[in-house]
Amino acid sequence: MKYYSTNKKVSGVTLQDAVVKGLAEDKGLFMPDLIKKLPQSFFDTIETLSFQEMAYTVADAFFGEDVEAEALKRIVYETLNFDVPLVHVNDNIYSLELYHGPTLAFKDVGGRFMSRLLGYFIQKQSDTKVNVLVATSGDTGSAVANGFLGVEGIHVYVLYPKGLVSPIQECQFTTLGQNITALEVDGTFDDCQALVKSAFMDEELNSILKLTSANSINVARFLPQSFYYFYTYAQLKKLCKAENVVMCVPSGNFGNITAGLFGKKMGLPLKRFIAANNRNDIFLQYLKTGVYTPRPSVSTIANAMDVGDPSNFARVLDLYGGSHEAISAEISGVSYTDEQISETLKACKQENGYLLDPHGAVGYRALQDGLQANEIGVFLETAHPAKFLETVENIIEEKVEIPLKLQEFMKGEKKSISLPKDFESFKNFLKTQAT
Ligand SMILES: *Cc1c(COP(=O)(O)O)cnc(C)c1O
Repeated sequence: MKYYSTNKKVSGVTLQDAVVKGLAEDKGLFMPDLIKKLPQSFFDTIETLSFQEMAYTVADAFFGEDVEAEALKRIVYETLNFDVPLVHVNDNIYSLELYHGPTLAFKDVGGRFMSRLLGYFIQKQSDTKVNVLVATSGDTGSAVANGFLGVEGIHVYVLYPKGLVSPIQECQFTTLGQNITALEVDGTFDDCQALVKSAFMDEELNSILKLTSANSINVARFLPQSFYYFYTYAQLKKLCKAENVVMCVPSGNFGNITAGLFGKKMGLPLKRFIAANNRNDIFLQYLKTGVYTPRPSVSTIANAMDVGDPSNFARVLDLYGGSHEAISAEISGVSYTDEQISETLKACKQENGYLLDPHGAVGYRALQDGLQANEIGVFLETAHPAKFLETVENIIEEKVEIPLKLQEFMKGEKKSISLPKDFESFKNFLKTQAT
């Protein structure tokens, strides 16, 4: 399979190059030349397959031409070795709990898959080490770092804003050691992201170091997220509830929802999507006006979605040929304030005994407000509530139990390197890593 860039100046790129480069040279995002339709027989029997079996079929459609079957199977099976329960919350609303992986957030799926696929390609090429740069406001850093931990030929640098990441999140990438280096930047998340971008654009650095990105712009990170949309459909089919399914996705950079849209293109019978936003409602404004106007993000209690210029919007546009009408026909949008998110989290606990995290609360609320009587709604519960401990405990006025996996991270010794936010310091630091 070859990949082209959403900016249309680059095409015919191999999967290996798309994964190793992350972003295309014209700064667009890579898209596969073809999104294969899966055969009807697959959908007819999907509920008889295990999660890994169906994910392998999906992975094969994207990556099968470029990765040997045995290797691809191993990558898929190793990525998905945790439960993804579909939990009934009330009426026609279900929660797909994507937080039972190692770092308790859905990003584990993409992080693990990408680390293994990149590892596979690096083994095949010469002995150049690849350096993964990732800026994080919390969850991405931990999922990527844990996915890549111990993978040979790859070193990961996690850049995070000093004092702006929750203590639990921080220990998930500062205590690992080995091939993971945490860089504590004296600045904001935007500063971290700017440092990473400048590094990719710096000719001198790129001549001495092989650099790539592990954010959801990377095809190896976002495409595997389509697996669990198929799994959701299969679970609902078992319950005889697979008609008129609405998928509601708490969205920030729109990687997760884009993976679902790819699933639909492959023939997955989902009725429609809801992109659920916090106050950063750039996509909702686009739906309303037909004009895409990025603006600086504002901070909210669902902070993994504090994005003012969603990178995967370019893929959504490309998928629908740039047609506002076609996009609006399949995706609707909502936006909620912190007060509404808190209210919803609290009410859901009281009324259904179900504890949401602030991101899942946005998704649940959108279904409560927008689901029609004949529809079945599934929202993606993207992180474990304990990852946002203080916020959640303050809202429900109760203690939240911290899962063992999280407690283990908290026992480790924090190690990070402090850096100022100017590019020269970061560049000099990276240069010392080249030897
Ligand atoms: C990353 C993240 C999101 C947003 O996902 P996108 O793919 O960026 O839209 C939502 N919730 C949580 C908890 C996240 O970590």
